[in-house]
Amino acid sequence: MIEDAPAAAERLDRFMARAVAAYYAQRPAFGAGGDFTTAPEISQAFGECLGLWSAVTWQAMGAPDPVRLVELGPGRGTLMADALRAVGQTVPAFRAALRVHLVEASPALRETQARALPDAGAAWHDSLADVPPGPALILGNEFLDALPIRQFVRRGDAWLERWVAGGAFLERPAEAPPALPAEAPDGAVREVCEPALDLARAVAARLRAGGGAALLIDYGYAAPGFGETLQAMARHGAADPLAAPGTVDLTAHVDFAAIAAAGRAAGAAAHGPLPQGLLLQRLGLMSRAAMLARSAAAAGRHRLAGEILSGAERLVAAEGMGRLFKALCLCHPALPPPPGFEPEP
Ligand code: SAH
Repeated sequence: MIEDAPAAAERLDRFMARAVAAYYAQRPAFGAGGDFTTAPEISQAFGECLGLWSAVTWQAMGAPDPVRLVELGPGRGTLMADALRAVGQTVPAFRAALRVHLVEASPALRETQARALPDAGAAWHDSLADVPPGPALILGNEFLDALPIRQFVRRGDAWLERWVAGGAFLERPAEAPPALPAEAPDGAVREVCEPALDLARAVAARLRAGGGAALLIDYGYAAPGFGETLQAMARHGAADPLAAPGTVDLTAHVDFAAIAAAGRAAGAAAHGPLPQGLLLQRLGLMSRAAMLARSAAAAGRHRLAGEILSGAERLVAAEGMGRLFKALCLCHPALPPPPGFEPEP
């Protein structure tokens, strides 16, 4: 629980920011034994594919040396460890040119990441703005969904804003609201994630100035709409998002259209969003998983072989994480569409 929680009402985004920071500060367990699991914790092929995506994009950038490989919200450091191992084996020139930069707010998770990446020479930062300038490849998996949202509720002809007090919502006149639709059905809820839009602008400005590309993967919607998606996960099940802030994982679905538009307005090209399953298939995740499963089976580890295949299947299948999760690429406008984002022939 968050200590010293203000008794008075708190705007939802401020409540969510505090709850998320408190949750990640206590080194949450990801994976089967924790509250939720993420793609890199399900299959090593996920981080490997993203590493190779970065290497091919780096080649399209003209192979700058050095290049910053930045990860936003690296969790346990698994994605980065898998990516570095894969590119070290397959594109050693990229491995030699890259410098690892991790944007992580939680001191506890920074320690976990340092243990997962003992030889990476990683540097940690509070925000993308602190990463030194220059060409960059930026990866973020399930980062945007942790950024705090505001919720606006349509009442008659006006938009009210949701605040939190005593574990329940209350509605107040919206203060300095962002642009909201002029028409909406009574009771409709509209979510706006201002830090995600700020991040898209910062990513775009950085890529425009220094070159490079960003790959942002998360669950969310491709077209904006109405509806509330704030949710809490504890032990792989739904929990009350307002009841015990800091003890549950609080997220909201990502508005990819708004992020792409903010990135474009700040000078980047935007590709996608594509369903995660489609991107991973195009990047060869299933063949990589089949190869890993064959090695496991050859070593007599048949149960592991089965788990490798079912994990990869879960990332790709529409009824698993393949459709709800989406991938958006922001990149320098002169770059060709990056791997997996090429238009259909
Ligand atoms: N990418 C990892 C972890 C996702 S969980 C994975 O896929 O497994 C979200 C991560 O973002 C955590 O590492 C969390 O501490 C970090 N995070 C959340 N909000 C943040 C913020 N505002 N600034 C920096 N890091 C943040």
